Amino acid sequence: MTAQLIDGKLISAQIKQEAAVEAAKIKEAGVIPCLAVVLVGNDSASQVYVNNKKKACEVVGIRSVSYELDGGTTEEELLRLVAQLNADEAVHGILVQMPLPKQINEEKVILAIDAKKDVDCFHPMNVGLLHTGGKGFLPCTPAGIIELIKRSGHTIQGQNCVIIGRSNIVGKPVAMLLMQENGTVTICHSKTRNLAEVCRGADIIVSATGKVNTVTADMVKAGAVVIDVGMNRNEAGKLCGDVDFEHVKEIAGAITPVPGGVGPMTIAMLIKNCLVAAKMQNNLK
Ligand code: NDP
Repeated sequence: MTAQLIDGKLISAQIKQEAAVEAAKIKEAGVIPCLAVVLVGNDSASQVYVNNKKKACEVVGIRSVSYELDGGTTEEELLRLVAQLNADEAVHGILVQMPLPKQINEEKVILAIDAKKDVDCFHPMNVGLLHTGGKGFLPCTPAGIIELIKRSGHTIQGQNCVIIGRSNIVGKPVAMLLMQENGTVTICHSKTRNLAEVCRGADIIVSATGKVNTVTADMVKAGAVVIDVGMNRNEAGKLCGDVDFEHVKEIAGAITPVPGGVGPMTIAMLIKNCLVAAKMQNNLK
């Protein structure tokens, strides 16, 4: 292997350690940071995500309160709970785990969450602030990607950054953050012509397609930094990313593994947003 392995577990542990110090300071100021986690239904993947988020809060010293609602919960019932959590001064962050059952309109729920408590950074107000460069929450997975690149010693400024995928959760916000870091950004998608050629010009590639082998060795410039956001299953049922890791690692300068790359960062950044929320709502610096 020639590429540096970017260790998301290690970097996320560092961020959580820093967060624990910050949480202790907030507590000293008389505020107990608190995240409300809402899960509707019994989707097993969502249950795992929610439990991991609650565990991470515990480790860092953030109080978490959880609401596990029946899969048949109506939109009105969920909106009522969100309104109650919005009004609760002891709750600083609200996380409603997506996806929601089909009788509930996700967009309505996102809009109902007080933007000041929107630690997922999904509310249009926070998305707008991200685009105008204002202060506030950072979208968790994209912000985690920036931390991975920087903390493993790579520069973004002036680099050609190619993002594959244009979703609201990953592709678009990561483009915005890379641009804010002074990268030169190209966003690709399923209609992009000559994807391989575009990628070969990249110093940094971020792949978020959810498709196995989107990025193969012939698409990567020697020494490029390759960030794999994908979480897929290969033919053998094994968890894998979008990148042909075995071959790309021989060419890239640095690469994230799946699992153990971007995945752990998302929760670490959520924790950071909870602390931002607690401070913002209590006028703490
Ligand atoms: P979406 O399905 O919403 O978006 C996928 C994007 O990839 C679309 O813009 C699509 O283009 C593009 N795309 C699909 N196939 C190709 C292709 N062959 N060539 C070029 N572009 C392509 O996915 P998400 O952004 O929500 O997630 C992407 C992946 O990241 C998934 O595997 C998901 O599980 C994972 N993920 C991981 C997270 C983590 O914490 N590690 C967090 C969030 C997501 P078009 O717009 O034209 O359809």
